[in-house]
Amino acid sequence: MARKTKKPATPKAAYAPATEVIAAGRDPKAQGGMVNPPVYHASTVIFESLEELEARTAHPFDGAYYGRYGTPTTFAFEDAVARLEGGHRSIACASGLAAIGASLMAFLDAGDHLLMVDSAYSPTRKYCEIVLKGFGVETTYYDPLAGAEISHLLRPETKVVFAESPGSLTFEVQDVPAIAAAAHHGGAVMILDNSWATPLYFQPFAHGVDVSIQAATKYLVGHSDVMMGAITTTEEHFRRVRVMAAMLGAVPGPDDCYLALRGMRTLAVRLERHQQTALELARWCAERAEVAAVLHPAFADCPGHEFWRRDFKGSSGLFSIILRKHYPKPALAAMLDHMTLFKMGYSWGGFESLILPADPTMFRTASAWRAPGTLIRLHAGLEDLGDLIADLEAGFARLSGK
Ligand SMILES: *Cc1c(COP(=O)(O)O)cnc(C)c1O
Repeated sequence: MARKTKKPATPKAAYAPATEVIAAGRDPKAQGGMVNPPVYHASTVIFESLEELEARTAHPFDGAYYGRYGTPTTFAFEDAVARLEGGHRSIACASGLAAIGASLMAFLDAGDHLLMVDSAYSPTRKYCEIVLKGFGVETTYYDPLAGAEISHLLRPETKVVFAESPGSLTFEVQDVPAIAAAAHHGGAVMILDNSWATPLYFQPFAHGVDVSIQAATKYLVGHSDVMMGAITTTEEHFRRVRVMAAMLGAVPGPDDCYLALRGMRTLAVRLERHQQTALELARWCAERAEVAAVLHPAFADCPGHEFWRRDFKGSSGLFSIILRKHYPKPALAAMLDHMTLFKMGYSWGGFESLILPADPTMFRTASAWRAPGTLIRLHAGLEDLGDLIADLEAGFARLSGK
């Protein structure tokens, strides 16, 4: 098989997303006729001549160079993600958090300032408090509904505005284009955690984002068996992020890249089903006496719903409900310990349904979290809707001691 030495520039998406997930990141002619790319296990890459060694060393990010910089399996995954997100190029990372960390570290130095959304995934907040603070970077948390008003929080030393839309616990949808415009006006880079929508339901680069992050662990992989992340950037910002990600060295192995690419082939059909089931479950929950509110971006009363309607092409399988009161632990345990399909576990995006109690007050500083009762996050898996409703119905009965 011919050795692939030059990495082709990612072609612009030519098809509808449902076709792109099938066509992107593979080239049967270049892989011996096989439908899928081979899995290359490699640390060392051999150069045939001094001339080649020198030429390749000058361009370590274009083609196989050394295992940590990726193999053709990694490149196939990166090409596919870049095409779907609509960015210049992508960078495969060892986890979603590794992708977030590399993106932040790429743009922030001692003395710089970061604007972080208050509804961010809690390890993202911890990254600011534990890693960035230690390096002399100050973080200000902003209200997820701030929109263009974020300009009042920008300082000359603000280098990054970070958004996560919707928040993956409380589901406020952000006005990403307005925030990006304010960030750019102030000379800051706009980074978005796009994991909830995936590129199929939100196109980051069409909405002013400079750097888009996928916790590939979730929907791209889709089978709860791989940790991976991906960073996609504009052409302008690619090199800076690419160099930092390479320096941090948190790279995924080739088997994980292969599994992520395999998961992506069914992303469009899986998401449609996650979407449909989540909408049905959310509507069903909204009718329950125990439920005070449903937090789902497609629902009219969800904070920021108008931005979801304006900017998104769909909704995925993750949403929350707020119960009418704060139930004591034994009542919650009676419900949660005996669920048969909705199992408790962090993460989401796999084929299976999940349920998780959470207290957002612990993760809020810009605006107080006010809710009449316990928050429960649900992930609608690919099971039959009737079975899922029966599981929830029995759970609510146990919660109320019936
Ligand atoms: C899970 C998650 C991450 C982190 O991904 P890992 O692969 O678990 O490191 C980042 N952002 C969001 C919104 C997530 O849900």
